Amino acid sequence: MSGIYVHIPFCKQACSYCDFYFVTKSDQKENFVQALIAEIAALEGQVFTEEVVKSVYFGGGTPSLLTTDQLGRIITELERVFTLELDELTIEMNPDNVTPDYLKALKDCGFDRISMGVQSFSEKSLNFMNRAHNRTQALQALEDIVASSFQNYTVDLIYGQPDQTSAELLEDIDQLMVFNPPHISAYALTIEHNTRLAKQVELGRVKPADDDEVADQMDLLARSLVNYGLDRYEVSSFAKAGFQAKHNQIYWDHGNYLGLGPGAHSFWWPKTPVEKEGLMGDDAGFFKGLSSEQAIVAMVQS
Ligand code: SF4
Repeated sequence: MSGIYVHIPFCKQACSYCDFYFVTKSDQKENFVQALIAEIAALEGQVFTEEVVKSVYFGGGTPSLLTTDQLGRIITELERVFTLELDELTIEMNPDNVTPDYLKALKDCGFDRISMGVQSFSEKSLNFMNRAHNRTQALQALEDIVASSFQNYTVDLIYGQPDQTSAELLEDIDQLMVFNPPHISAYALTIEHNTRLAKQVELGRVKPADDDEVADQMDLLARSLVNYGLDRYEVSSFAKAGFQAKHNQIYWDHGNYLGLGPGAHSFWWPKTPVEKEGLMGDDAGFFKGLSSEQAIVAMVQS
């Protein structure tokens, strides 16, 4: 089983906590799509295309900033180069990009799973994290998804924010469960280097939440979601039966996956010594002089 992760690096604005690679300029989107399609085309005939692909995941950044025409062209090129027998085709979305028409067009492209970053329904929290959407947009987006033909979707929440109380976290959970989502991922806010949040902490403008309080919130969240009938099948992920993320399972199983786009990485096990040699053969002069293991690591990082 193999998966493909496609990184789309565009974002409307910078969330204060985010250390992923992203750009907030939007004028290069079409050039990017063409470069990504060229990257996919360059893989034609390589060993990576011999394995059937069971899952493709469009992550970001914010993939929903691309048009469905652009997304469709990327998928068409993936179909041309790889053998896709997909159990899952996921796209990450932000609430301010969700409309009934866009959802329908995504379905027409072949997407069958949405991952939406709500993070919180609290205006205070959304402003603090500098999210691009507000509470009203988050609620409307969930209404639109529930009314659409997407039955398989997941919503991200963030807890452990400075000054966030357990009561506020419970409000977020209860509000989200009004929509009865089949899958939720919830992450503790972390302070990453070189982010606006880290700078705010460094300057003493923000005091991080106490570790014990964050741990208590994690326990509270887990108990609440389990009480709502979701199974905690990963540290941060909860799902109803049959809605566990198939793409992530490839990672946990140490299956092969390819990362495409600027901020993605890959992981690939050569099946045979010949394949291992082939990955480092004359066509890959860059890898010469490295040990097999060094070369494979270099290859998947390149
Ligand atoms: S939308 Fe996602 S990728 Fe973009 S800045 Fe916010 S957290 Fe980072």
